[in-house]
Amino acid sequence: MSYDSTEIHLVARPVGEPQPTDFATVHATVGSPGPGQVVVRNTWMSVDPYMRGRMNDRPSYIAPFVLDQAMRGGAVGEVVESASDRLPVGSVVLHDLGWRTHALLDESEAEAIDVSSVDATAYLGVLGLTGFTAYVGLKMIAPVGVGDTVLISGAAGGVGLAAGVIAKKLGAARVVGSAGGPDKTTRLVEEFGYDAAVDYKEGDLWKQVVAATPDGVDVYLDNVGGEHLQVAIGAMNDFGRIALCGAISQYNVTTAQPGPNNLVKAVAKRLSLRGYIVLDHDELRAEWISLASSWLADGSLTDTHTSVDGIDHALEAFTNLSRGANVGKMLVRL
Ligand code: NAP
Repeated sequence: MSYDSTEIHLVARPVGEPQPTDFATVHATVGSPGPGQVVVRNTWMSVDPYMRGRMNDRPSYIAPFVLDQAMRGGAVGEVVESASDRLPVGSVVLHDLGWRTHALLDESEAEAIDVSSVDATAYLGVLGLTGFTAYVGLKMIAPVGVGDTVLISGAAGGVGLAAGVIAKKLGAARVVGSAGGPDKTTRLVEEFGYDAAVDYKEGDLWKQVVAATPDGVDVYLDNVGGEHLQVAIGAMNDFGRIALCGAISQYNVTTAQPGPNNLVKAVAKRLSLRGYIVLDHDELRAEWISLASSWLADGSLTDTHTSVDGIDHALEAFTNLSRGANVGKMLVRL
């Protein structure tokens, strides 16, 4: 059989914020699977801030997207035709060929997932790299100790919501989040287990963070960079730990930005600042899946996501990440 697939291709390297003209919607044909292959009809795909980096042609920890080809990224779908003993028709699989409605995959590129008790969306969010990123950051890179005050930026996003729960589970006494807008800060406290939240779009970030962390900050999970990192360095206690997870405030900048102007404080405060990439920490993955599964089952962790419908809206979902359109993981239902 053959399948009509709609794909989103990168056709130009964006300068600054990605524009519609940097992409093309392409109709392609996916043929029958060869031995050991499957055809998957994608049902959900992930859009993630890191994809902005892959649109640039620069050396990095992951290869750039190839121009005039479909982009890649996390996706979940159902096997509709199979030449694989391991993945029969009807299997639900997690794989990396998102940004298209249909994918031809070698069986080694697809992981069967159990959606009998957990929604497929969780495998792209809390049970996937998003939740795992928060766990690696707070368990290993900037370990949370019992009684700590933990500050998390991008707190209402996918990584941020998971991080708030994880910090508490690891023993934090106080968890403070930063997010944009009063709806998000209210929900962080009322729904998502944060003790306090600051609205970086409203007023002086430094004053708000100092007021929300009367005992100082022991651990900072940085998803935003820029001013947030500078404020956190100022608020850190001696021997504080900072996990440099992401810097979304910088992803669309076109000229190099100066770093925090108070980095010298890291010396006197004996701070550690450590960047990381979640893909380097597979040794913790089974531990995270086990913990996250039990926390999802008892309701202490939730598969909170924001979704848009249709591949035609996938780019909008991606560009809206930088406008704060999401609470929890941003996903596209296909
Ligand atoms: P996300 O937080 O769900 O979505 C992005 C959020 O960032 C938006 O909702 C928005 O929320 C906030 N934001 C956008 N522009 C901002 C700005 N200029 N200043 C402050 N906040 C801004 O995305 P995610 O997938 O969970 O990723 C969060 C961070 O983790 C990103 O930096 C990402 O690159 C990083 N990450 C790192 C790894 C790793 O291995 N190190 C892996 C996955 C993700 P507001 O409404 O609050 O502005």
